[in-house]
Amino acid sequence: MKRLWLNAHAATMRGGRYSIIEDAALLVEGGRIAWIGPRHEAPGGADETVDLGGTWITPGLIDCHTHAVFGGDRSGEFEMRLQGASYAEIAAAGGGIASTVRATRESSEDELLASAERRLRNLLRDGVTTVEIKSGYGLDLASERKMLRVARRLGERLPLTVRATCLAAHALPSEYAGRPDDYIEHICTELLPALAAEGLVDAVDAFCEHLAFSPAQVERVFQAATALGLPVKLHAEQLSSLGGSSLAARYRALSADHLEYMTEDDVRAMATAGTVAVLLPGAFYLLRETRLPPIDLLRRHGVAMAIASDLNPGTSPALSLRLMLNMACTSFRLTPEEALAGVTLHAARALGLDAELGSLEVGKRADFVAWDIQRPAELAYWLGGDLPKRVVRQGEDVR
Ligand SMILES: [Zn+2]
Repeated sequence: MKRLWLNAHAATMRGGRYSIIEDAALLVEGGRIAWIGPRHEAPGGADETVDLGGTWITPGLIDCHTHAVFGGDRSGEFEMRLQGASYAEIAAAGGGIASTVRATRESSEDELLASAERRLRNLLRDGVTTVEIKSGYGLDLASERKMLRVARRLGERLPLTVRATCLAAHALPSEYAGRPDDYIEHICTELLPALAAEGLVDAVDAFCEHLAFSPAQVERVFQAATALGLPVKLHAEQLSSLGGSSLAARYRALSADHLEYMTEDDVRAMATAGTVAVLLPGAFYLLRETRLPPIDLLRRHGVAMAIASDLNPGTSPALSLRLMLNMACTSFRLTPEEALAGVTLHAARALGLDAELGSLEVGKRADFVAWDIQRPAELAYWLGGDLPKRVVRQGEDVR
């Protein structure tokens, strides 16, 4: 079955640029792009033709950093903070990440599935066809397994490609209070090997920060992941400069994420390793941060920049990846073209999927969105709204 899609302009994102084809046609066979180019050069022999109605098409959007599976939410804390309560007061009242860990542990797998599905359907409506989901609110073997199983089930239930990342080294669970090295040891020798053996883990992540884990502790986790043949990623340099992104680069990490406090040495190390810089403007916005990630340095050294929602209940309850494009442009001064590359080709790279996804090129999967817009910059320009006219995954309409 060969289907020819036509009557659309294409921002193919080949090479991380718009790489525009005006009045394009796209031939899809077996869920993959068999041909793409100007309509007047399109090959014959299609079984079916679909008119895209003068829209713009881009690759399906890729949200390469989310914590979309969690119990409860933190809207109550959000309200308390705005009524004057401090972070410390909220934490003392059992709030913060500890409250999400509690709610996640208490939720059944089906409850977590239902709430995460509602969140992901919002992303899907907004043009997302691939999403990464991290564990990290379970912090014990059974609860981390439960979260990762939910991520796998979401990939089966929804027309989305889901990558599951084990983030057991997200925070110290209360059972291990004062014994972080023991918890890291448990992750490396029991938790990670068990979950990897069950086929639940595509990558391993950690949170390198004073209020989480030290570079030495993160390195133990990276060693364990590497021994299991799993790629690594890292939450690094969000609130202080610990050299986490250089550590990630040493382990050839797929990505280092946040990065507000990274140094030029970190940038150099990531450039050499080909580690993607994942920028998370939603958390920057919600925390009202003022320290910007070093965008010019990243550009100058040629580090690929991805943009993600960081969808999580505490610091980025984002249900639109496209809104993050605007925030990346407005807060971080990315160009709309860089921002779009950040949720397509570079996001695919941050998941190790760039051979399959992230641009409209022959041989890649036919995941694309037809947008009701006049030019690609509109994707970063509008704040919210419903812009996708069709969302297509592996050659089939999913919206
Ligand atoms: Zn995160």
